[in-house]
Formats: sequence, C-alpha cells, structure tokens
Amino acid sequence: MTNDVVVVGSGGGALIAAYLAQKSGLKTVVLERTNLVGGTSAYSGGSCWLPGTEVQQRAGLSDSTEGARSYLEALLPTPLSTNVEVFLAESPKLVAELEADDAFEWEWSPFPEYFDAPGRVPMGRSIQPSNIRRDELPAEVGALVRPPVERDRAGEGGRNTLSGGQALIARTLMAFVRDGGTVLTDHNVIDYVVENGRVVGVTTEGGETIRGERGVIVAAGGFEGNDTLRSANGVPGAAEWTMAPTGTNTGEIIEAGKALGAAIDHMDKAWLCPGLEQPEGGGSFTLGFRGGVMVDSDGRRYANESLPYDQFGNQMAGAPNRIPSHFVFDSREGGGLPAIAMPEGDPAEHLKAGTWTQADTIAELSEKLGLTDLSETVERFNTFARNGVDEDFGRGKDEYDNFFTGGATLIPLETPPYIAARFVLSDLGTKGGMVIDEHGRVVRPDGDPIPGLYATSNSAASIFGPFYPGPGAPLGQALVFASRAVQHITA
Ligand code: FAD
Repeated sequence: MTNDVVVVGSGGGALIAAYLAQKSGLKTVVLERTNLVGGTSAYSGGSCWLPGTEVQQRAGLSDSTEGARSYLEALLPTPLSTNVEVFLAESPKLVAELEADDAFEWEWSPFPEYFDAPGRVPMGRSIQPSNIRRDELPAEVGALVRPPVERDRAGEGGRNTLSGGQALIARTLMAFVRDGGTVLTDHNVIDYVVENGRVVGVTTEGGETIRGERGVIVAAGGFEGNDTLRSANGVPGAAEWTMAPTGTNTGEIIEAGKALGAAIDHMDKAWLCPGLEQPEGGGSFTLGFRGGVMVDSDGRRYANESLPYDQFGNQMAGAPNRIPSHFVFDSREGGGLPAIAMPEGDPAEHLKAGTWTQADTIAELSEKLGLTDLSETVERFNTFARNGVDEDFGRGKDEYDNFFTGGATLIPLETPPYIAARFVLSDLGTKGGMVIDEHGRVVRPDGDPIPGLYATSNSAASIFGPFYPGPGAPLGQALVFASRAVQHITA
C-alpha cells in the first residue's frame, strides 16, 4: 500500500498530523493497533496548553505568547530551547489554521496552571475543542471514537455528547475522513522500512508493508503499558496502573526508532498522578481532593494533597513507603470519595475487595491497616483545618488547591465512619521518547535528522522535560509538533 504520509497511532497528535497532511493534498493513512481510535487522548479532558491564541483573546484572558514565555522561563532551563520557542510561536498559528475549518471549534476551559510563576494566567490559559453531538458525526466516525475511560473500562459504548478528548478526536477524525484520509484499525506497526538511508514506510504485525513516500510520523503514545521498558528506564509506577487504554502504548516503535539511530531523552519520566486502586486492579487518575489526608505506610502525610496531580505523583514516587498510600477521609459526603476519580468505582465494591477499609474510629482504622502514626496525623491535620492553615505542607494556599473545592480544601475529619482508600502511582503516559528537532524530525545523538522519520505526542521526548506546566501540556506540544512535521514534509 503506497501513500505520501503514514501516521502511526491515532491520538490527538496523530490525527492532527493526519488531518493537516491530507488537507495539504498528501495521501495519508493512519495506522492504529487497536479497533478504536483515540488512545489515551480520547480519555483526556481535551485541554490543550496552547498559549496566545485567538481563543484566549475571545475569552478576554490576560494571556499572550510573551506571558507564556515568562511563565516557561521561570520553570525550564533558560534560554528556552529552540523547540520551546517554536512551540510558543506556532501555537496561535495552529489554532487559527484549525479554526478556519468548520469542523473545529475551540473554547477556553478554566483550569489553573500548575506553578505560581510570573506569567501565570488566573484560572489558566488552556483551551479545548467544543463538545460535539454524535448525530453531527458520520456514523462510521462516531463508531470509531474510543469511549470515555469509565465506560471503556466497563466495556460500554460512548455517550451522545462527545466532550473533551473525545471531541478532539471526533472533530479531527471527521475532518480527516471528509478530506479523503484513510484510517486502518487493527494495524500494529512493528518496524520501519528504510531505503537508501530514508524511512519510506512501515511494516505491521500482520506482515503488511505500508509505504509513506514523503514521511512517517510516529505519534503512538509512550511505553507506559510496558513493564519491561518502564523498569529498564526507571519509570516509576507500573503498566497495570497506567491510564492508557489496555493494549495500546507499549513503546516498541520507539525502540525501533532507537535501533535506527534515534536519540532518546527523558526516558525515566512520566506524566504522573495518584491512582485510586480499583477492586479489579488498575489505578484511576484522581485529582481535586476535598478534605481527607494522604498518608504513607507509617500513617504520615508527606505532601500537600491538593498539589497538581503530576507534582503529587512525583512526591509519591519519592519514597518506597508511599506506594501504596492511603487516602483517609470521613463520611461527611456519605461515604463516597471526596475527590474526582476517573473512574471512582462503587464504594461497596471497594470495601468488599479491600481496596477501601472502613472503621468507626481513626484509631481502629490505624490498627486495621498498621498505619502506626495515623491518629497523631489526623489530630494534627484537624487542628490545621480548624485554624485554616496547613503548617506542614501549605495546602490551600495556591489557586490550584482551591479550584476543585470552592476553597474548602482544609476540612477536619470528624464524621465517622472513617475510610482509607488505597492509592497507587498512576500516569497519563510516559514522557520519554525520540528526540525531535524544530521541524518534528527525529534526530540522531549528533543532531542529524533521520530522513523521512518524524515524531510527536508521547512518542517524542517532551519539550518540557521533567515539568508539567499546566493542563493540556501533553496535547499542546503533541499538536504543535504534529503540525511542524507536516510543514516540513510539505515544504
Ligand atoms: P494516545 O492518545 O494514547 O494515542 C496513541 C495511540 O497509538 C493509541 O491508540 C495506541 O493504540 C496506538 N499505538 C500505539 N502503538 C502503536 C503501534 N505500534 N502501531 C499502531 N498504533 C499504535 N492531556 C492533556 O494534554 N490535556 C488533558 O486535558 C488531559 N486530560 C487527561 C485526562 C485523563 C483522564 C487522562 C487519562 C489523560 C489526560 N491527559 C491530558 C494526558 C493525555 O491524554 C496523554 O498524555 C496524551 O493523550 C497521549 O497522547 P499520545 O498520542 O501520545 O497517545
């Protein structure tokens, strides 16, 4: 099968690359290993950290490219890398290009940024595709979009209104198919076809060779679903706890790039988050804790529970007695988890499976779980909560801490029964992958590009290195470098 462009994977970065390539007149095929399109991107909130666009202007925000540069300069090594500068310069152009097509519609979504640094925009600068109804989509497109995580894990179909990441996938897929693009599901790409030193296609597990004469763009997730690669590279957490859909992102295609000579970077990093352990195993991305305390195996707090999830995940990864942790909460909300967990699971099932433990007193809970110092921890936290100041970890001070709780971040635990929910270290994908230049080209350790090979999304080393600047950073960078790859192919 011969095409101009082969795109490996079907998350946000992949589909934006495919859409832009097809729109430029290049015959483009998307190869997806599962039977559904969208990967983790379809589970996501669809938030994109794309600063300085018309969307933020329309919303009347104090956002600008310069403001975003100041913010990044406060976090990242300076001077900012060429890729970060390209990201800043290209974000507004990309969104304008997408919005020129009726298939796309973007809006600001309030969600505070993750660092109190100069240039931070109050309530955040992230944008997301507007919702779209299933009946606005061609049936074959609607049927391909991976359902939201809580339905997908239960083997259920999607809803009538597609929002967040589902809207991103649905809108982009709709436009790509409308323009004549091809999507082949159940196509697991295992290697590259190289001729005269140039990547000109891929081979699949099924034995097919699929040519992309002008370029191959890899946007096939990271290696979060592969325990061998995780431990070889020192990524904390585990494949069974990742949020990536089962059977998706196992990283062999990054390894194949490495075998071709690609440089790799940030291989020990992931977009981490606390994961509510589920009765059937696995972790659920959790954020927005209202009340409660997260404790280690001694029953001690170790961080501000309201930290941005990636920062909390890094705290969890910081000592062996924090995985698992226990989130201890009271019954003021009727026994449900006072946080947003995707999915939460049924409290009764949790209690039956032992992922949650309940007791009438904190002392009894401490005894049941061997959390020796829990009573002292809760007593201390309750004093902080009553005084309104967390003297140990400053919980409740930052805009982000209060966003999900309406300011009620410090709440004493005083309504029995008390519940301890087991937490593992989950992630939204790994951050390490093939190193790319400002054109999205995969480069060798000496900086020379590998002709014909491009990467973006979590298949490419994150331009933000160990940082997670704000909501939508993974998708924001994925989309921009998808666009850069196509610009280079068409130049
Ligand atoms: P994916 O979206 O997972 O896509 C990779 C696809 O490639 C998969 O479908 C996979 O099956 C396929 N694939 C893998 N290997 C191969 C192969 N060899 N051959 C063919 N196909 C292959 N990030 C944000 O930026 N904003 C958010 O709002 C946000 N919210 C989130 C909310 C939740 C609940 C979760 C779980 C994550 C969220 N994230 C968010 C994180 C973000 O979704 C992911 O980090 C990002 O979508 C990963 O994109 P990707 O293209 O690298 O991988």
